[in-house]
Amino acid sequence: MKVNKLAVLGDPIKHSLSPKIHNYWLKKMRINGRYQAIKTPIKNLKKVITKLCNNGYTGSNLTIPLKEEALKYINKKDKITTIIGAANVLIFSKTGNIEGKNTDVYGFKKSIMNLIKNKKRSMAIVIGTGGAARAVVCALIEMNYKKVFLFYRTKKKAESIKYDFSKNYKNTLKTKIYCNDIKKIEKSLKKTDILINTTPMGMKGFPSLNIDIKKLNINAAVIDLIYNPLETKLIKESKKRGIKNSNGLDMLIYQAQKSFYYWLNKTPKVTGELKKILEKEIR
Ligand code: NAP
Repeated sequence: MKVNKLAVLGDPIKHSLSPKIHNYWLKKMRINGRYQAIKTPIKNLKKVITKLCNNGYTGSNLTIPLKEEALKYINKKDKITTIIGAANVLIFSKTGNIEGKNTDVYGFKKSIMNLIKNKKRSMAIVIGTGGAARAVVCALIEMNYKKVFLFYRTKKKAESIKYDFSKNYKNTLKTKIYCNDIKKIEKSLKKTDILINTTPMGMKGFPSLNIDIKKLNINAAVIDLIYNPLETKLIKESKKRGIKNSNGLDMLIYQAQKSFYYWLNKTPKVTGELKKILEKEIR
């Protein structure tokens, strides 16, 4: 019987929750397979991918710092992966073909559906301009937000996101993208419908994001892509003010759900039990 071999590659990788998620689904769905974490420094990426492909692996996930580097080694990619410039999923074919996909966009969209139901979509604030910010901007465009304000520490990176999206969507881009210095964020808080932190600020081992959300509209929604800790200072402050909020755990689970589908052509269930297992692991 075929064993579906799957893995997540990254460096560091020890604390990745992906093996927990995928092995839970493989077991629940009685699929013969295993999902492991493989520490992969960026310089070894090509070697590791080639080895997995030759050894009959079905596919892999990619995490920091490999998502952008991987584009050099894939033979096929879709429009979203091209625009974002990063792949978090690889699909290996028997003939040695390697396809790259990005499921962070789907993961983000799915994770905020309930939070933004019936809410205005006039303005969004995105803090940070890395790979995760690109996936979030792509999702906001697909969700028809009218204006997206990118708040940067490094201007060049924000401008390059604006340039890449404008170039790729051409005249079909209905969303206006603005770039602003993070130091000026507080003036924009009053008007935004959604605020998303895509920086690592607030993550375990990092200082908190240094913004005061006092001026944020009570009807806005706050999303922090961080899930370790489960409650960052940003999430705690939002809760205190009665502002709807979400951490990044659902995004992580939903990007995994879509990855699983790409490899095995089956959609696993996102259950309360799975979420509890992951929350326990994080605590
Ligand atoms: P990345 O490519 O390294 O980008 C990080 C961004 O944060 C950069 O634009 C960086 O600015 C900015 N930044 C860092 N410190 C800052 C500060 N003090 N003030 C302002 N901006 C700051 O990383 P990434 O891949 O986008 O990931 C970012 C975070 O999202 C990580 O915590 C990651 O775990 C999380 N994430 C979560 C999910 C999920 O499923 N929940 C998925 C993907 C990512 P510079 O450009 O100036 O360096």
